Amino acid sequence: MNPLYRQCGVTVFEEMSRLAAEHGAINLGQGFPVGMEPPALIEAAVAATRAGPHQYPPMLGLPALREAVAASARRFWGLELDPGREVLITSGASEALCDCFLALLEPGDEVILLEPAYDVYPVAIRAAGGVPVGVRLDPPDWRLPRQRLRAAIGPRTRAIVINDPMNPTGKLFDDDERAFLADLLDRHDLIAVCDEVYEHLTFDGRRHRPLMTLPQARRRCLRIGSAGKTFSVTGWKVGYVSACAELLAPVARAHQFVTFTVPPMLQQAVAVGLGFDAAYFTGLAATLEARRDLLADGLARLGIPVLPCGGTYFLCVPAAAFAPGADDRALARRLTVEAGVATIPLSGFQLGPGMEPHLRFCFAKDPADLTAAIDRIGRWL
Ligand code: PMP
Ligand code: GLN
Repeated sequence: MNPLYRQCGVTVFEEMSRLAAEHGAINLGQGFPVGMEPPALIEAAVAATRAGPHQYPPMLGLPALREAVAASARRFWGLELDPGREVLITSGASEALCDCFLALLEPGDEVILLEPAYDVYPVAIRAAGGVPVGVRLDPPDWRLPRQRLRAAIGPRTRAIVINDPMNPTGKLFDDDERAFLADLLDRHDLIAVCDEVYEHLTFDGRRHRPLMTLPQARRRCLRIGSAGKTFSVTGWKVGYVSACAELLAPVARAHQFVTFTVPPMLQQAVAVGLGFDAAYFTGLAATLEARRDLLADGLARLGIPVLPCGGTYFLCVPAAAFAPGADDRALARRLTVEAGVATIPLSGFQLGPGMEPHLRFCFAKDPADLTAAIDRIGRWL
């Protein structure tokens, strides 16, 4: 077995979902939404399944979907993309991330990750022969640590991963941070892998903005999206990467030897979805914002402080709010087994030491389950 995977074990999402199922716990751990699939998207998938075709679609993705991705980038973010040369369809954002690292890293290249970092990044970087370098962000507001970031850049640094809005912290970057990052890319000749799967899931009237829209960063960014998040269908695994042709061509080379292509009926349905009117996208964010508030208010009533959350599916809580000095992994297991509520320990997103223990709660769930989870925690405390 490759030692990389021997070290990894099973992911924290799988571990906590299994534990939740074993103990009948309400699953506020793994980040998947409940009861939010848009009926028109499902209908489009059914119609495309009936109509076919069912054979390998073009390696780069169906032209209709690549055009829809480009049209959506223009409509929401004012970003002009050539759908023929600057958009690639992948098997979820996960494959897009792997393709980017496989294609663009040379052995020993360093990639900066902002911690806490989504679990795929370090493993996919190492699998591609790269070296992840963590730069820690600090709660409660997880501001970009500009000094630490500058200090982490060395002669082998090739790329930085920017996850905005950010899992697990719920951080939404601001324009000042984006301007700093664009300047940093330019100054040090770096590329940015921009994981923007939560692009439409932002709250309190705040909006996302792709780093790629900054002129300095346009040719240095690979922007990744996911239909799983935009249409609440995480099992579909339809993702997209957009980048200038020079960066995208090698990524497409990697894609041809990873999955080669993506189910055609799902691509057709996602192309329909990206054309939904604006009310769909604002409704999606409003639904999630209401669920965030339901969970945050309920925890606050129990005396549990939650950290600010500007986007994503996730709220973070310091483990010390439940038990002073608690280790977050042990606490997450106790909460699952004893209280019947599963969460994710932030240590699952940690590369190096020094991070304070936190739990991540996913609020993209049935409101009745959120209320029941608050009751269960209240009884357990
Ligand atoms: N990036 C982030 C930050 C995620 O949270 C996830 C999964 N929820 C992914 C990538 C993977 O997305 P997909 O399911 O489209 O592969
Ligand atoms: N991205 C999801 C989360 O953060 C989980 C994806 C997975 O289970 N690998 O919870």
